[in-house]
Amino acid sequence: MLNVNLSRTDRLFRVARPVLSARIERRPSTATSDGRVLVTRARRFVVVLSILSLTFAAPLATPVNATTLPTWAITVNVKMAQSTVDDQGGLVYALSRVSTQFDTINHRFNDTGRFKGIVNFRETSFAVYSDMASNEKDQPHPDSQLQLIYDENQDTGGGWFGGASQTIVHDWDVADGGLFGPNATDGLVHEFGHSREATDEYALNVDATKNPIDGKAYQEPYSIMVYPYGVRTWSDYSVGLINQAADKVNPAGPALASGDFPAQLQVKVVNSDGRPLSKAKIALYPVAWFTYSVAPTPTVSGSTNGAGLYKLSTNPFQPGSKGSPWDMKYCNFRVKVTSGAKTGYAWMPLTQVGAKYFSNPNSTYTLTVRTG
Ligand SMILES: [Zn+2]
Repeated sequence: MLNVNLSRTDRLFRVARPVLSARIERRPSTATSDGRVLVTRARRFVVVLSILSLTFAAPLATPVNATTLPTWAITVNVKMAQSTVDDQGGLVYALSRVSTQFDTINHRFNDTGRFKGIVNFRETSFAVYSDMASNEKDQPHPDSQLQLIYDENQDTGGGWFGGASQTIVHDWDVADGGLFGPNATDGLVHEFGHSREATDEYALNVDATKNPIDGKAYQEPYSIMVYPYGVRTWSDYSVGLINQAADKVNPAGPALASGDFPAQLQVKVVNSDGRPLSKAKIALYPVAWFTYSVAPTPTVSGSTNGAGLYKLSTNPFQPGSKGSPWDMKYCNFRVKVTSGAKTGYAWMPLTQVGAKYFSNPNSTYTLTVRTG
């Protein structure tokens, strides 16, 4: 709801570099979707404190082979709720902690040495607001590629908001270390990974109780896009996507991931001795994002040729599905093969198929399934 506490809402500070003089910036009132006018946003007082520029002087995380790599400068408009600034002990402390956190986040990308550029998320402005995060989240930020909102009382839910928003809303329990604690920073690294087109890899997981085909669970190997807390590694799939995104943002889509598939996908069926089996039946049971469930009905079925291969004629992940996460309907499959009385099962997760693409875009991805 609209915050009408004018004694606070008129105190909206905005610190920008490299402007050295204080000025007052006036903006027109902003109409909400239901026609009300947010009078709280009518005036913005811009105050520039030269001393604060010192807090932005964090060194850039630099890998050893930096001289051969381009720098990917990705500009970020930072906003913080006035109440959160207060909880941090004031603006100077807040700015300093933000700067340190940015430095850590850049290190989490660059220290791995896995990227084709030096990632440099860079604060280009810092604004303090006194309305709600929901009012700030979708504000245009034409002077920066991304927006990061710190708000301990956010009303939007935390995390990455893609599309036109290109915004991360950051909130964290004080009991768990607060906004700048280790877990909060680890979580932010994950969200910045989304800003570089990495996907939620934990969404591929399956609970054993939600797999009606053979009752087995699926767990992605730990990496930052699976579980960021205390984890310092990026999956091959995420590395490929982040390298592809480089220093670009993608507000209009489609998601890069939806275009990153090998030229051909196929299933190979072998017996327990490794010998290819012809005329084996194939069924692909899909896993939709964030459902942690295998669907009971296959979306693809067929049988192997004389070489024990079944080439998929369409992409089972169904890229181009607008409205689905990362523009794909499915993110994983339980593959069942049947040859006579024998059966076999295997997972076909997006992360493995996509990693194959990044190793060679013209390659063939082969899922080998062994019968019992
Ligand atoms: Zn995520």
